[in-house]
Amino acid sequence: MADRVTRTYQDWLAAAAALSPETRLFIDGRFTEAASGETFETTSPRDGSVLARVAAAGVDDVDRAVQAARAAFDDGRWRELSPKERKRIMLRWAELIRAHAEELALLDTLEMGKPIAESLRVDAGGTADTIAWYAEAIDKSYGELAPAPPDALAMITREPLGVIGAVVPWNYALLIASWKLAPAIATGNSVVLKPAEQTSLAALVLARLATEAGLPDGVLNVVPGLGEVAGQALGRHADVDKIAFTGSAAVARLFQVYAGESNGKQIAVEAGGKSPQLVLPDADIPAAASAVAWGIFYNAGQTCNAGSRLIVHASVKDRLLAEIVKVTGETFRLGDPLDPATVLGPIVDRAQHEKVLGYIATGVAAGAKVVLGGDVGDAAATFVQPTILDVVSNDDVVAREEIFGPVLAVITYDGDVDEGVRLANDTEYGLVASVWTRDITVAHQTARRLRAGTVWINTFDASDVITPFGGFKATGAGRDKSLHALDSYTALKTTWIDLT
Ligand code: NAD
Repeated sequence: MADRVTRTYQDWLAAAAALSPETRLFIDGRFTEAASGETFETTSPRDGSVLARVAAAGVDDVDRAVQAARAAFDDGRWRELSPKERKRIMLRWAELIRAHAEELALLDTLEMGKPIAESLRVDAGGTADTIAWYAEAIDKSYGELAPAPPDALAMITREPLGVIGAVVPWNYALLIASWKLAPAIATGNSVVLKPAEQTSLAALVLARLATEAGLPDGVLNVVPGLGEVAGQALGRHADVDKIAFTGSAAVARLFQVYAGESNGKQIAVEAGGKSPQLVLPDADIPAAASAVAWGIFYNAGQTCNAGSRLIVHASVKDRLLAEIVKVTGETFRLGDPLDPATVLGPIVDRAQHEKVLGYIATGVAAGAKVVLGGDVGDAAATFVQPTILDVVSNDDVVAREEIFGPVLAVITYDGDVDEGVRLANDTEYGLVASVWTRDITVAHQTARRLRAGTVWINTFDASDVITPFGGFKATGAGRDKSLHALDSYTALKTTWIDLT
């Protein structure tokens, strides 16, 4: 099935009603209950209903999964296959994901509330594309020869690290998992994946499909469970070689502690953002307005690289805000995420919903003017209307902290571009930024000065697996995507041969 919507709203409702998802852990190629028998609820933000009870991995289960991953790595059942064979298996896996895109997307939409069209295109489709892209890289990666003296041959090769623990969030549950699984598995590692509590179900299907494609048992294991139990057990496990984490900055730092207090494993973290869209006076206002609206309201603002701060010059502010309000009203149709016409779904769960509403109240109490939204919407589900807060200063809480909801903070400047850049960079994060101007020289100079892992010029959120993704400062260390990600799951090895 293609990664686009061919079913009607009624079809999706019927599919949801008939749902009977797999809820057990996936260890060593088979589904298994947690040793303790414990489970946790997964609910749908569509209506708060309980979708399933999922096996909750405990310390013993995580240990079982790590042992299976270690055994698969040590006996070479995967890493010692020929590159061509590994490529073939991963390509088959990508094809199976495409064939099961509707199953994966339905689970993701029900658990997370993302509009079904986006779950299909971005999560299911993007995951298949990512796995296929890294599969293709397997038999196109070469080692190096160092400029050794004539009587020696010095080779530099890359070797897989061993067992990788991948810990991921709920906002792009499958896609972000694939950014870690695909390069890690392509380079010959074994993986233990810990999905977020809110979104476990599609990850279990992903593992089933990997096995169907021919990935040997133990190479990919999935251990749903609570962060402080299963996540921590993985972070502290003495036989895990690296943790690849995406999530909040606070939990990222916990993983650094876990590593330091256990075996000093490598840690790559991708944490949050408070990303600026800097609009200069000569910007193309309609284009900027559309990008600003999509940049903050897409996925109900639950995007690490959401453009949550608009830094706009006073001379164009009113025109830009009016245009953003218009685009938002025309585009962001709020509704049931199972309806293919919905563009804006609910917030992932009650706790996050309350957090977002709390931030809106804090912003208003601090003197922000509500340009758009500000209210709850349908109280039965966890909706938040697209909200624009014209804040007093970049020091306000809503301009500094990651809200992870459809809330845009507008910060006005009336000086030169230096002031705009200073405000854009005045954040603890450094994931992405954009600059809007028609002057190509100013655009390049500004892009260099913006402290972010990705800078967009006259666009926002343009991306593909071909370029690295990650950030500076509190956003973290390490990059997902692109060929550079292959380096982060391997270590360099020197082999020096005496030719005399
Ligand atoms: P989170 O940090 O609460 O959870 C992320 C993962 O860590 C989950 O699997 C969770 O179970 C686990 N976890 C939670 N507490 C833990 C603990 N004490 N020990 C070990 N593991 C623990 O984040 P979230 O709420 O799932 O996701 C939202 C956050 O993710 C936002 O801050 C967002 O910016 C960030 N994010 C960043 C990127 C990026 O690429 N930079 C991408 C997506 C999301």
